[in-house]
Amino acid sequence: MAPPRKILVVDDDPATLILMRAALLRAGFDVQTAVDGEDALHKFHQHPSDIVLLDVDMPGRNGHEICATLRAEVGELLPIVMVTGMDDVESVERAYHAGATDFIAKPINWALLGHRVRYLCRGFQNLLDLQTAEARNAAILEAVPDPLFELDIDGRFISYHSPRTELLGAPAEAFLGKTVPEILPPAAAQICLSALKSAHENGLSTGEQIELQLPHGQSWFELSISRKATDSKEKPHFIVLSRDITERQLSEQRIRQLAYFDTLTGLPNRQSFLERVEREISRARQNGRKLGVLFMDLDGFKNINDTMGHGAGDVILQSVAERLRQGLRPSDSLSRPSATEADAGFARLGGDEFTALILDIERPEDALIIAHRIRELMRQPFLLDRREIAVTTSIGIALYPNDGEDAIALLKHADTAMYHAKDQGRDNCQFYSASLTQQAVQRMTLQNNLRLALDPGEFHLLYQPQIDLQQGRMLAAEALIRWTHPEQGLIPPLEFIPLAEENGLIVPIGNWVLRTACADAVQWQRAGHRVQVGVNLSPMQFRDPNLVDAILETLSQTRLTPDLLELEVTESAVMEASGIATLQALRQAGVKVALDDFGTGYSSMSYLRNMPLNTLKVDRSFVMALPGEDKDRAIVRAILSLAKSLDFSVTAEGVETLEQAQTLKAMACNALQGYYFSKPVPAADISALLSRSWPID
Ligand code: C2E
Ligand code: CA
Ligand code: CA
Repeated sequence: MAPPRKILVVDDDPATLILMRAALLRAGFDVQTAVDGEDALHKFHQHPSDIVLLDVDMPGRNGHEICATLRAEVGELLPIVMVTGMDDVESVERAYHAGATDFIAKPINWALLGHRVRYLCRGFQNLLDLQTAEARNAAILEAVPDPLFELDIDGRFISYHSPRTELLGAPAEAFLGKTVPEILPPAAAQICLSALKSAHENGLSTGEQIELQLPHGQSWFELSISRKATDSKEKPHFIVLSRDITERQLSEQRIRQLAYFDTLTGLPNRQSFLERVEREISRARQNGRKLGVLFMDLDGFKNINDTMGHGAGDVILQSVAERLRQGLRPSDSLSRPSATEADAGFARLGGDEFTALILDIERPEDALIIAHRIRELMRQPFLLDRREIAVTTSIGIALYPNDGEDAIALLKHADTAMYHAKDQGRDNCQFYSASLTQQAVQRMTLQNNLRLALDPGEFHLLYQPQIDLQQGRMLAAEALIRWTHPEQGLIPPLEFIPLAEENGLIVPIGNWVLRTACADAVQWQRAGHRVQVGVNLSPMQFRDPNLVDAILETLSQTRLTPDLLELEVTESAVMEASGIATLQALRQAGVKVALDDFGTGYSSMSYLRNMPLNTLKVDRSFVMALPGEDKDRAIVRAILSLAKSLDFSVTAEGVETLEQAQTLKAMACNALQGYYFSKPVPAADISALLSRSWPID
């Protein structure tokens, strides 16, 4: 509690003055009196008091004038209380204009006067304290170097305090009444709103960062938001401080840049490449994928450096980096879409050595295709001072997991492979495992040749008879494709069908097989033999939504009766999502369907039961084991009885001996196919086989 206050009481009536003095002394005030206006000013100047009680009606200068004078002299901080006549409303009004703090009406209640003045003092003190606090707050805010706003829960700007509007790129007033999403770009607005929400829930939210594109450049702000205590009826308000952390952000970026990027080309450096490879290896380990690390080295770069100077060398290296970045973008289509260059992370290790990481590769060729693309990119001459400079590249490839289990090993082996490539005469790609290079190159060339094989008639069909065991005659034949490569000669279907699957060529090739097989079957029919023809469908053909239409069209063009066509499909193909529907559509079309290689897949009874199939073709591997021991026969018998129980006809494949044929006949197999009866033969040789009989006794 403050010490007794000095009070100056001014009244021209001596009796009032005495009574007032007594009442105020009793209330603990240090009282000084004055008898008129002049006396009051004089006393106040000699001993300034904390509060003044001023009678309005006085001879000479009246109370209003004295009040105005004192107010002008000492300012707001002095409480001046006017003592007026009770019903003198006009006087009260004038006192207010003269700067009075309050008024007391006569007649005065002497018993209460002291309390009244004390209350007045306290109210005034509170006001002063508040002013002091506000001034202090204002000073604190003034000292805060960051934009400071008050927002409501919807992100609407209520008020601002920002000595640094230049940071915001707009006058802070412009924000008032608007909401965060109206002012900030969507990403930043989202961060800001969720920080508000978190401050609403937890009272405080710190550390959220927003990135803004301001007129003076890219800027980063870190938000600190505190919930402001508000009336429960009001929407919650928040104080939002946005600290400009642009400098910090930029220097962190510079540090990161220095630690992880090559300064000359801006590509990741060795360290960041190794870290990236390590990360991708652990991912690849989890999902069982392959990775490729390419190590490239420019041929003859040292020569450029020596003859044209380091400046020229640097320009070439920068252009190489640029070509890698530009040239291998996801928009460029690759022949194999599974390994995209979007996944090719490039780096410069130093000198003229660059690396690339290739993700999700399935076959070595995927890495080789990208390596070839890079070589092509580098082959365009570089322009330097209007001179064209030719550069070639040697590339080494190491694959995870084949060629190394960690980043260091892969890089080392890719490097070794690169030296190997240089040995091979530069401008060359080599795998770490030499045999891979050969295989991959071969497969890639084959795939390219495959594209050109259909037109010049490099394909032809052979037919392998299927012998019906009841009649002992050939009632069906399976069509098997052959490719005669102009240089390499005959290429087995197991080598080129998977390649044709990969690049989609299997669909036109398959259509050709279908058309040719149907046409041949019609020929046999015309010659008087009813022979069913079997045509293999690869999974991709089976998935083709046009399959049924293509078949119907072929049947009508060749005029083959549908029940003389049997399509051979694999278990994995029919087990795909729409497999059963496709089978049903085929059955609707009147053609037959056989499940090829039966016994090698899931062969799930419950699954097969629902399949509209005609035939199961027991895989050669089971037949091979016959006649064998009891347990081998037991397996084949189990497979056959499974097929029988499902009411399918059973054909056994790969029958090479009479014993095998006899064993299978004894197990009630329906038909047999294999070298014992005939190897696959040209269509023209079929008639002769058709007239033969094949007793199995
Ligand atoms: P597949 O459908 O299981 O065909 C049977 C394969 O076993 C044929 O090999 C055939 O020559 C061979 N073979 C037949 N009897 C015997 C035998 O007694 N002993 C042995 N060791 N082998 C026998 P091929 O002609 O090399 O065809 C291999 C695979 O290529 C076929 O297996 C089939 O999956 C695929 N294929 C062949 N032609 C076509 C076609 O036109 N389209 C599609 N999509 N695939 C085809
Ligand atoms: Ca087959
Ligand atoms: Ca088969």
